[in-house]
Amino acid sequence: MYKQIPIAEGLFTWPSETPALLGSRCRSCNIAEFPRKPSCPACGSEDVVTEELPRRGKLWTWTIQGFMPKKPYHSDETPETFTPFGVGYVELPGAVCVESRLLENDPAKLKIGMEMELVVETFRHDDAGNPVMSFAFKAAE
Ligand SMILES: [Zn+2]
Repeated sequence: MYKQIPIAEGLFTWPSETPALLGSRCRSCNIAEFPRKPSCPACGSEDVVTEELPRRGKLWTWTIQGFMPKKPYHSDETPETFTPFGVGYVELPGAVCVESRLLENDPAKLKIGMEMELVVETFRHDDAGNPVMSFAFKAAE
């Protein structure tokens, strides 16, 4: 039996029908961070709480990654099978701007300001064949 493994602990809620990224929010200055930090980068307070971030946001900027990234990038792909993918910053309302892989890689279909939605999907497989899950954003339906 294969088991879905999150790419990192504490990055997003999983398993879940409606996964959300896990950020930290400072209780003294209200700044949110992703990924979570043990203390606030803005004011240094350690009074931070884990918060599920909004699942939808607006595309702030994007680019297409047209060649295979160097390590530690680790997918099932080889330079021969690599498919270009979108990378963008998605602004989650009231929270934080998150850098993420995008499911869309057609520049004609990506527009700054478009509504995006979080998905969790298989990114690669580990040595035992288990799917390793990571997050990405796709155009919201
Ligand atoms: Zn703070």
